[in-house]
Amino acid sequence: MQKKLGRNTVVLLGIGHTNAHVLRKWKMKPLENAELVCVSNFPISTYSGMLPGALSGQYPSEKMEIDLVRLCASAGVRLILDEVVGVDPLEQRLLFRNRPSLAYDALSIGVGSVPTFGDVEISDHNPLISVKPMQTFLSRLRDRLEACGGGGNPRVAVVGGGIGSIEIALCLDQRMKTNPTSLGLESGQQCDISLITGGDRIGAGLLESTRDKVESHFQRRGIKAIAGSRVAQITPSGLVLKNGATEEADVVIWATSAIAPPILKALSLESDERGFVLTKSTLQSTSSDQIFAVGDSGTMQDQALVKAGVFAVRQGPFLWDNIRRLLENRKLVNYVPQANFLKLINTADGSAIGEYKSRSFQGRWCWALKNRIDLKFMKMYQDYSPMEMAEVSADPEDVMRCLGCGGKIGSKLLGEVLKELEVPAHEDVIIGLENPDDAAVIRTHGGQVTVTTDFFASPMDDPYLVGQIALLNSASDCCVMGAQPTSALAIVQLPLGHPRAQLQVMRELMAGSVAELKKMNATIVGGHSIEGPRLTAGFTVLGRQLTDPKTKGMLEEGDLLVSTKPLGTGVLLAALMQGLLPGKSYLPLVNTMLLSNYIAIRLIQDYQISAITDVTGFGMAGHLAEMLKASGKSATIRMDEVRLLPGCQALIDAGIESTLAPDNRLVTDKVQFIGDAALPANAALFDPQTSGGLLFGIAESRLPEVLDFLGHEGFEETCVIGEVTANPAATSALTVVS
Ligand SMILES: Cc1cc2nc3c(=O)[nH]c(=O)nc-3n(C[C@H](O)[C@H](O)[C@H](O)COP(=O)(O)OP(=O)(O)OC[C@H]3O[C@@H](n4cnc5c(N)ncnc54)[C@H](O)[C@@H]3O)c2cc1C
Repeated sequence: MQKKLGRNTVVLLGIGHTNAHVLRKWKMKPLENAELVCVSNFPISTYSGMLPGALSGQYPSEKMEIDLVRLCASAGVRLILDEVVGVDPLEQRLLFRNRPSLAYDALSIGVGSVPTFGDVEISDHNPLISVKPMQTFLSRLRDRLEACGGGGNPRVAVVGGGIGSIEIALCLDQRMKTNPTSLGLESGQQCDISLITGGDRIGAGLLESTRDKVESHFQRRGIKAIAGSRVAQITPSGLVLKNGATEEADVVIWATSAIAPPILKALSLESDERGFVLTKSTLQSTSSDQIFAVGDSGTMQDQALVKAGVFAVRQGPFLWDNIRRLLENRKLVNYVPQANFLKLINTADGSAIGEYKSRSFQGRWCWALKNRIDLKFMKMYQDYSPMEMAEVSADPEDVMRCLGCGGKIGSKLLGEVLKELEVPAHEDVIIGLENPDDAAVIRTHGGQVTVTTDFFASPMDDPYLVGQIALLNSASDCCVMGAQPTSALAIVQLPLGHPRAQLQVMRELMAGSVAELKKMNATIVGGHSIEGPRLTAGFTVLGRQLTDPKTKGMLEEGDLLVSTKPLGTGVLLAALMQGLLPGKSYLPLVNTMLLSNYIAIRLIQDYQISAITDVTGFGMAGHLAEMLKASGKSATIRMDEVRLLPGCQALIDAGIESTLAPDNRLVTDKVQFIGDAALPANAALFDPQTSGGLLFGIAESRLPEVLDFLGHEGFEETCVIGEVTANPAATSALTVVS
C-alpha cells in the first residue's frame, strides 16, 4: 500500500467479463483520487468461452484463467477474497460475513449466473457436477471420473440444451478419444456420452440449419441426444425424466439455462423473475444509482436478452465510462445491446460451427476465428507487468504535513474507529480504552509481566488481513514464552490520503486485530498512529506468565526438532509485491499466516516440550542457530523433511527472494551443508517468515501425542525436520542434509 489513499472507493463484486474490463482500464490509468477494490470468491477468474477448449485439451487450463492476485497486485488494486452477505444501499456499504463492511461510492455487481435446477429432486449420493463454479469444474470432473474406477466405460449425461452443454459434450468426447488418462480414466477407457434437453431438439435458440450441423456431429461421434423431456430427478444411478424414462449415468454434468446465484437474493435489490438485478439502461440498479449490475447478473428493464458473455463483454466500456460519470456527477450514458452476435461452437476436432443472423456455417476457418478471438481477448487480461506507481509525496500539500508527533492521526478519526470497535473487557485492565487516559494501567499478578513488540510495513493491500497477521505475529513472541497475552498496544502508520479512506483502512485494520485478540482472551488498551508513505502495523503485547518462562536455551540432546508451518512466506510475499505470485498460492500463504501460535501455550503446559521459539524474520536457520547457541547443542536437519508453501520452490528457482534473505545467510558460517549446498530449496532456510510457525524440541516418546494435538488444531503441515545432537566442539553447528 504505497500510493496515496483517494477519496472515492469503487468496488467490483465478482470479476467476470464486464468488471474485468474496469480492472484492466484502472491498471492502464487509475482514476484520480479514488481506490479500486475487487471482491471475488476465487483468486482466479475463468473465461467461459475457453472452458470447453480446456476440457478437450486444446488449451492448458491457465489459458482460460485470469489470475486476480497477480492482476490486482500489478494494478495496485486491493483484492478481497471473502464472502459477501449483503449490501446496505442507504449507507453505501457492502457487507461481509467475516470482516467489517466496505464503504463504496460506486459498486458494480458482476457475479454471473448459475445453472437452474427448477423443481428437480436431487437424491443424496448423486453423481452431479455443476458447471459452476467454473474455476473448479475440470478438477471436480477429473475426480468424479477417477472415482468411476477401471472396467467399463463411465456413462456421462450432460444436461442442458444450449451452446455451453453442446460444447461440453463434444469437447469431453474429444478428450476421451485422445487422452482419457489425463481426465482420470484408465488407458483404453472411453466415456459413453449423452445430452439431455427439455427442448424439442438440442441447440435452443440456434437456427435450424445450425442444429442440423450439431446433430450430425453428435451422430458421427456416437453422442446420444435425448430431447423432449426435462429431468425430474437425479438419483444415485443417474436421471429420471419427466416422461418417466430413465438415463443411467455415473456422472451428470449440469449446464442448464441461467438463474441468479444466491448472493443476488441476499443483496435484496429489485430483481426480475429469475432473481437477476433489474437495471436501467445505464446499467444502474433500479434500487440504487450507486449500484451497477452487469453481465449475467443484471437484467435491463424491458429487454429480454439471453445471458451470454458477448453482452457482458460489450458492457465493459459502458460500465467504465458510467462509473467515472457517476463519480464526477455527470450524466450517465445508455448501453444499447447489439441486435445480433456471432455464435461459434467449438466441436473440438479442429473445426467449429458458427452462425450469424440467418446464416449458418462450419469449417476449420471457424475454429481458427474463434481461437484468435478468444486468445486475443484473454491476452488483454493476462498482462501482469507492474503498473508505474506515482510518487507518494508528489502533492505539495504533503510536503507541508508535520512529522514527529505532528504526523499523528487526528483524534476524530481514531474516535470513530474506537466507537465501532467492540473492545473486549479484561480483568487485568485497570485503565484501558473504556476510560482512556495518558497510559493504560495493567494488573501484573505478582509483579511480573511479559512484554514483546513487533511491527512491519505491510506487504499486502488488505488492512483487515494486515491487522490479523500483525497481531498474530506480535502475540506469538509472548505465547512461545508460555505467557497468556492479556493486552496490546497498536503501532500504526496509515498511508497518506483522504481521511475517509484512512478511516476505512483503520477500521478494518483494528477490526482484524481485535478479532484475533478476542480469540486469545486478550484486549486492546491503546496505541499510537501516524501518517506515512505506506501502511505499517504492529503491536506491543503484554502477557501473564502461566508457567516458568520457556526459553530458547532448553534444547536437549536427542530431541526431535518439530516445525509447525511450511516455510516460504518471505518468498511468496516478495513475489506478491512484484505481481508475480500465482493466484493458486495466495490462499495457502494467507491461511498459514493466519494460523495462530497461541497453541504454543498448550504445547508448553501439556506436552513437555523442551524448548520453543517462533520462526520469524531471521528465518529457520537463524532462529534454530539462536536456540542451539543458547542451549549449547548442535543439530542436524534434513531438507527432504522441510515443507515449503505451494509455489515456493518455483519462485525460488526463478530467483525470487525477500530483501532480508541475504542478511539471514550471514549465519551460514554456523551451517554445514552435506550434499549440494547450492540447491535452491536450501534458500528456504534463510527466508524471513511473517507470522511463521513454531519450532520446538521434544523427546521422541512424546511425539505421537503432540502431532495428534497439532493436527487437530489445524497445523496439518507439522513435520519433524531433524534432531538435536551433542556439541563436543562447542561450536553449536547446524548440519543440513540435502
Ligand atoms: C460452458 C459454457 C460456455 C459458454 N460459452 C460462451 C460463449 O462462447 N459465448 C458467450 O457469449 N457466452 C458463453 N457462455 C455464457 C457466459 O459464460 C456467460 O454469459 C458469462 O460468463 C457472463 O459473464 P459475467 O461476467 O456476468 O459472469 P462470469 O463470467 O460468470 O463471472 C462472474 C465472476 O463472479 C465471481 N463470483 C461469483 N459469485 C461470487 C460471489 N458471491 N462473490 C464474489 N465473486 C463471485 C465468479 O467466481 C466469477 O469470477 C458460456 C457458458 C457456459 C456455461
